[in-house]
Amino acid sequence: MAVAHIGIDDTDSNRYGMCTTYIGAVVDENLRTAGYRRVDLPRLVRLNPTCPFKTRGNGAVHLTFKIHDGHDLFRILEIVEGTVEELAEVRDESTNPGVVVVTDDDSTAVDELTPLYVKALRGIVEIDDALASLEETGGIASWFKNIRGVIGALAAIGAPDEDMVTYELLAYRSTTMHGRKRSVDVRSVQIADLETWPWTYDNYDWYDMEMLIAPHTPCPVLLGIRGMTERAVVEAYSRMIIHGVERTMLYRTNQGSGLHALHINNLSELKPYTTVIVDATVSSEPKLSSGGHVYAWIRDLNGDEVRVAAYEPTKHFRKIILALRPGDRVRVLGSYKPHPPQPPTLNLELVEILELAPKERSVAPKCPVCGSTMKSAGKSRGYRCKKCGYYDPNAKLINVKEPREVIKGLYVTPPRAHRHLTKPMEGFTFWGPRERY
Ligand code: ATP
Repeated sequence: MAVAHIGIDDTDSNRYGMCTTYIGAVVDENLRTAGYRRVDLPRLVRLNPTCPFKTRGNGAVHLTFKIHDGHDLFRILEIVEGTVEELAEVRDESTNPGVVVVTDDDSTAVDELTPLYVKALRGIVEIDDALASLEETGGIASWFKNIRGVIGALAAIGAPDEDMVTYELLAYRSTTMHGRKRSVDVRSVQIADLETWPWTYDNYDWYDMEMLIAPHTPCPVLLGIRGMTERAVVEAYSRMIIHGVERTMLYRTNQGSGLHALHINNLSELKPYTTVIVDATVSSEPKLSSGGHVYAWIRDLNGDEVRVAAYEPTKHFRKIILALRPGDRVRVLGSYKPHPPQPPTLNLELVEILELAPKERSVAPKCPVCGSTMKSAGKSRGYRCKKCGYYDPNAKLINVKEPREVIKGLYVTPPRAHRHLTKPMEGFTFWGPRERY
């Protein structure tokens, strides 16, 4: 069966709004109205969350439709281009929409684009590399303004099915409501969360009593419900009391997969704008800054060091980082970015405390006669008991172990601070056998 893979990216603007997932939903409707049949669920593919070109969540969409011949290909391209041209917020100078259509009889095209997706997920892709991949697949690309949007559009097509581990059901509001306050009943969201968790996640942050499903931007999204199964997100949606829905769209996604993080052995392998997992030792006393961020330094076996941060929005997660001490062995997951004028920093998403260094305190010895605490008799002169007068010229300070304020284990930032790709705690505990990170 011949299919057309459609990739779309870079259509929205922080200033004017819009959302690539909304354009994906309208394209989907327009193609179905034109008589085309969907082959798979539409896919929402998140790419490198530290990419400096992203608007917000670095998401691109991938739609798959059945075709018969080359005429279909050009007709589809025309419909997609027309929809993107009509809706994309090209008034924003940093919005550079890209559209790609690749035809395929089996999954060869997707396989050929998988290395590009992996690079776009974990690193930075050069436009020449993206164009070389496009040529390899024989696909057609079209772009408005600069060509950058084609990178995400191509990468989305290359995401392998096994990375698409979750779903998001998005509800969009009518155009007249864009920029207005969203009408979502908080109590119904709390109930939906309680009834469908852990098969839905990140709907509501119970630590901070904050609803997470509705964005605060002027875009068409009314709300988005994330979950492990189609059934769970549909069920949660059916329980929510909302108004002004124009349309809904169910996407399969790589959100919550944790796949953006790359394992590295040493800190010398750190590259800017990547997310890494690395084992290290805490090398400084963590400090709380005046802005509410917690900073510490970690060191690897080669003696290389990097600053790590738990920023203010990570709330109680900061307490875990503050409780660390020099000598603790940790596995950290964080995104590495320049931080001028301060040092480049790993922004923590997760920490696993592997070993806790003993915490000790030096105390004066107790008197063996009356049990009172003895006092120093001067440097290297031993200790004397003030109460009963006992004197020991050889007595010294004694080291006693103190309890630590944290225990070994895995700690993830709270839902309100998650990136789209962050694997939530539910992913480690409930979602079945999958790689740990
Ligand atoms: P939203 O999630 O709100 O739809 P966004 O955060 O996805 O917006 P875009 O407007 O899509 O941001 O912009 C991201 C731009 O960066 C696109 O042009 C995309 O092609 C490009 N891009 C994405 N990932 C990479 C990467 N890893 N390397 C190079 N370019 C990238």
